[in-house]
Amino acid sequence: MSVFERLGCRPIINASGKMTALGASAVEDDVAQALADAARDYVEISELLVKAGRVIAEATGTPDGLPTTGAAAAIVLGVAGVIAGEDLDRIEAIPGPVEGPREIILQKGQSVNFGASIEQMIRIGGGVPVEVGQANHVEAAHVEGAIGPNTAALLYVKSHHAVQKGMASLEEMVEIARRHDLPMLVDAAAEEDFGQYFRRGADLVFCSGGKALNGPTSGFLCGRADLVAAARAQYAGVGRPMKVGKEAVLGLCTALQGYHDRPDRSEEQRVQMEDLCARLNRVDGLTAAVAADEAGRAIYRARIAIDPAVYGLDALEATRRLQEGSPAVFVRDHYANTGVIMIDPRPLRPGQVDAIGDAIVALADKENQS
Ligand SMILES: *Cc1c(COP(=O)(O)O)cnc(C)c1O
Repeated sequence: MSVFERLGCRPIINASGKMTALGASAVEDDVAQALADAARDYVEISELLVKAGRVIAEATGTPDGLPTTGAAAAIVLGVAGVIAGEDLDRIEAIPGPVEGPREIILQKGQSVNFGASIEQMIRIGGGVPVEVGQANHVEAAHVEGAIGPNTAALLYVKSHHAVQKGMASLEEMVEIARRHDLPMLVDAAAEEDFGQYFRRGADLVFCSGGKALNGPTSGFLCGRADLVAAARAQYAGVGRPMKVGKEAVLGLCTALQGYHDRPDRSEEQRVQMEDLCARLNRVDGLTAAVAADEAGRAIYRARIAIDPAVYGLDALEATRRLQEGSPAVFVRDHYANTGVIMIDPRPLRPGQVDAIGDAIVALADKENQS
């Protein structure tokens, strides 16, 4: 029985990815042990935050870091830090207006919803989001033109949620930020290489602990020491309702310390998905093949195109039925409106690839009998 069934929750198979709505990640044993150990003991939190910052700095190759409840909180604390600094009156005034620059410039195609609105996170941190350009076209000149005395920082969002083409590059953004002496913030919540954005010129980077890192529900920011210190100071203000637990901090540190030693499972997962595709290609109405990640990460998913006339259901309906099954299978439905469902191998636990195959085959059988 899954631990969540004890509360009456349905058992699920997560084949959709690192989805916050499904609990984001299932951690390795050493991380789970760290969570349990931390839960049973005490520590001075202010010291823990500083020491954990050293672990984050080490793992990311940046000067300093700060644990958070997630990347969303990292955005809030990072923005608030840029605006309020370490001045307690200003810290306590956030998110209300404080004197001085508060505008955070971001490209229109990067103003995403990741389950919540990135602009709302900026506003909670006391910032005023300023979108530039058009949804599918932003030039450096748009960014440059929006900069004025009220500009506090530039924000670049590296995400599969964002428009991938037609945006100003990180390098262009960094160049503009440097020239105007503005902090360059980067939301890299779901990315795999946490260190690269700082190396490419970012001043502050926002990351999720529960996505690529496969850590506990947590996050962190990392980068320039003064900006990290300012963000840390916000735990006395707007950060209080998003305080990160000692369990999550220790789990995050354990996951970060093991990150580079963890075996790369992408090849093994690709083979699993090849096998699943071979099985599903024998089902009438399904055309399956392994597809590489659209954002270039080392993720190989099974891409299953459904011919509703033959399979009996379209992709949207199949997605819904699979979620209603027992166990409930949550497939990746980003392209369901185009007739395609995807299986993400990363969150799957042993035996679940077969269970997913069974569920998809059973759905076709059931439909063709009725
Ligand atoms: C997931 C995500 C977030 C939020 O991360 P959490 O760790 O869930 O708070 C922020 N930005 C982007 C681009 C994301 O994909």
